Amino acid sequence: MIQRSYTYRLYPSNAQSVVLTEMLGAFCDLYNAALPQRIEAYRRQHKTLGYFDQSSELKAVRAVDERLAGFSYSAAQQVLRRLDKAFAAFFRRLKTKAKAGFPRFQAKHRFDSAAFRVGDGLTIRKSKRLGITGVPGEIKVKWHRDLPASAKLGAAVLSRSAGKWFVCFQVTVPDGDVQQRDGASVGIDVGLSSLIATSDGETVATPPWTTHAAKKQRRLQRALARCKRGSKRRLKAKQRLARHSAHTANQRRDVLHKLSRSLVERYAVIALEDLDVDRLARSMLAKAVHNAAWGQLRRFLAYKAASAGTRVEAVDPRGTSQTCPACGAGVAKTLAERTHTCPCGCVMDRDVAAATVILQRAQAMGPGTGLRSSSQRVAA
Ligand SMILES: [Zn+2]
Repeated sequence: MIQRSYTYRLYPSNAQSVVLTEMLGAFCDLYNAALPQRIEAYRRQHKTLGYFDQSSELKAVRAVDERLAGFSYSAAQQVLRRLDKAFAAFFRRLKTKAKAGFPRFQAKHRFDSAAFRVGDGLTIRKSKRLGITGVPGEIKVKWHRDLPASAKLGAAVLSRSAGKWFVCFQVTVPDGDVQQRDGASVGIDVGLSSLIATSDGETVATPPWTTHAAKKQRRLQRALARCKRGSKRRLKAKQRLARHSAHTANQRRDVLHKLSRSLVERYAVIALEDLDVDRLARSMLAKAVHNAAWGQLRRFLAYKAASAGTRVEAVDPRGTSQTCPACGAGVAKTLAERTHTCPCGCVMDRDVAAATVILQRAQAMGPGTGLRSSSQRVAA
C-alpha cells in the first residue's frame, strides 16, 4: 500500500469562510484549554493525563460549549490527539536530550488546520462539493486532478494558508501491480551551485527566481520588524510576507514535481545520499539545501518511484564529494572548489563527480552489479 496525499483548493463563500475561521478558533480554544488541564493534573496529583482521559470529557465540554458543539465531534477529538502528539514528541525529545520545547499555547491566527475523517464531519457530496459539519451549505472545491479511482479515503486535513483554504486527502492506494522495471541507473547529488547534478553529467540549475524571492523575503521580513506590535500596518505586512512565502513554496513545489517526474520516467534506479536534511540545513550548507528543497525532492522521488517501479537507493553519504569516481582515491576539496581534479587524470564538475560516486556506491550494494561497469562508463 502506498500512502499519498492530494491537496485541493477550496472556494468557500464569505459566509462559509467566516464559519470556517470560527471553527478553527473553537478548536484552538479547545487545545488551549486542554493544555493547562494536563499541566494542572500533573502539578496537583502527579497524574499524567493522556488522550483517552481528555477525550472522555469531551462530551461534557461540548454540553456547555455551544460553539464547539456545533462542529464535528471527531474533529474535536483530533485536536486532543494533536495535543497528545505534542506531548509525546516533547517526552521523546527529553529522552534523547534534544532541545525539549514544552507544548505551547497556540495563537488563533496560527492555528491553521483541523483534521477530519472522511465521511465523518467532512464529506464529499454528490455535487462534488464539500460538506463540513457546522458549516452552512456546500463548499466549492477545485478538483484540478482526480482522486485515484481505487483510492481508500482516510483522513482529510482542512487548512488555511495566507488567506486561502485547502483540503488535503490522505489516500491509500494499492501497489500490488507495480513491478520493478529495467533501465538505466543514475546517481544524483545536491549541487552547491546547481539544484542537482546527475552522474550522467547533467546539472539542473537553481531557478533564477530563487535569489530574487529570497531577497524579497528578507525585505518583507525587515518591513514587518519595523512595524509596531498590534498595529494594523503590522498585520498588513504580515499578510504580505505570508502571501509571498506561500507563492514561493508553490513555485518550488512545481519545479520539484517536474524534476522528480522527469527523473523517475528516465531511470529505473535512482541513487542518492542518505542525508539528514535537518542536520545539513543547520550547517553552513544551508543555502545549498535551498530551503529544504532537497528533502522535498527526495519525498517526491520516493512516492513517484513507488508507483512507477523505479528503485530509489540511499547510500552512505560520507566523503562522496571527496572521492575520485575514476580511481577511488581521496581528493580533498574545499567548498569553494568547483572542479574535481585527480592525479589519475580524471577532471570533472565537482557535483557530477559526487553524483557518480553515489551511483557507484548504490551499484556496489545493489543486486549483481559492481563498481566496474560504472567506472568504465565514466572513463568513456
Ligand atoms: Zn582519480
